[in-house]
Amino acid sequence: MAIGVAILGSTGSIGTSALRVLERQSSRFIPVALTAHRNAEALAVQVARWQPAFVGLVHGDVGETSVDRAGWQSGADCLVHAATHAAADIVINAVVGAAGLPATLAALQAGKRVALANKETLVVAGEIVTATAREFGGTLVPVDSEHSAILQCLAGRAPHEVRRLVLTASGGPFRTWTADRIAGATVQDALNHPTWQMGSKITIDSATLANKALEVIEAHHLFGVPYDRIDVVVHPQSIIHSFVEFVDGSVLAQMGVPSMELPILFALTWPDRVPDSGVPVFDPVALGNLTFESVRTEDFPMLRLGIDAGRAGGASPAIFNAANEAAVALFLAGRIRFGDIATLVRGALTSYGTLPADSLAALWHADATARRYVDAQAATPSARS
Ligand code: MG
Repeated sequence: MAIGVAILGSTGSIGTSALRVLERQSSRFIPVALTAHRNAEALAVQVARWQPAFVGLVHGDVGETSVDRAGWQSGADCLVHAATHAAADIVINAVVGAAGLPATLAALQAGKRVALANKETLVVAGEIVTATAREFGGTLVPVDSEHSAILQCLAGRAPHEVRRLVLTASGGPFRTWTADRIAGATVQDALNHPTWQMGSKITIDSATLANKALEVIEAHHLFGVPYDRIDVVVHPQSIIHSFVEFVDGSVLAQMGVPSMELPILFALTWPDRVPDSGVPVFDPVALGNLTFESVRTEDFPMLRLGIDAGRAGGASPAIFNAANEAAVALFLAGRIRFGDIATLVRGALTSYGTLPADSLAALWHADATARRYVDAQAATPSARS
């Protein structure tokens, strides 16, 4: 019998890739629950094709539409309901931002496998999430390409055999830009990612390198590796998805042309592999040269700010994440400059990084405080760069 899959964020970039994977793997997996943020039209097309047992639309009250939503649930709670649906064995969490956290926790508490594309889940509440997985027997498997690569390279090796993780970063659209030019980059510039087609939030995060900071924190929690043994290297071709260096000096890499369909499929089948991933045939000659560079940390301050927030622990990662989410939304709305994102996030961390973080409620308070700070500062032009 096919394994039931819930997809949270089914109309987004990861969600639509996941449905392409399930289309090819229909003898193994079947979508049983689909949720979207606000795109009712795209969701209706998916519902007509798959007839899932559960349909959720987070913003069900927004926008005029002729879509028949009979039987659909609306509101943020639909994410938790989809994640805990009895027919779902695996939950693909492809929600954007900290809003994905309650569904991850609920799925883990129900003992399900969470195929995690919502890296903010682990950034905001990494300790609570990993403890919940241990306590209730749920499983976290990464969908993020770098973390899938690390999982594939680790292949069950013991933690004491691992010396270092090296995450690759494309460098984003501003890899070769001067610092001055980066500070004034437009939304269109920032959305023009060289190697990956993704949603707007993660694409901006890739331009600031905040995404790589979120991924370092995610790797720390997923693999239990200390921050001083996680490095980042720029690899503009995005062919090598990450490296694992072992204590004997041997280094394994996982590679392939950039496509999220393989990491999505592997998150469903791990630790097994199955045919028909849809990934193009590997042709090293056609791929050409693979190159590596150091990160320009001075010109991309979000990377260091995020990793330092991870090291500091407590409320700092949640503050970093929430301030970044709020600042990216303002940048996308044309209300702040690209360079203001780091200024606002740094300010939020300085003001609120030491807030209490001893419970989920405390972390949500920190999250809300950081968002309020960013919105208030952005309304005060003198506070910006
Ligand atoms: Mg990634």
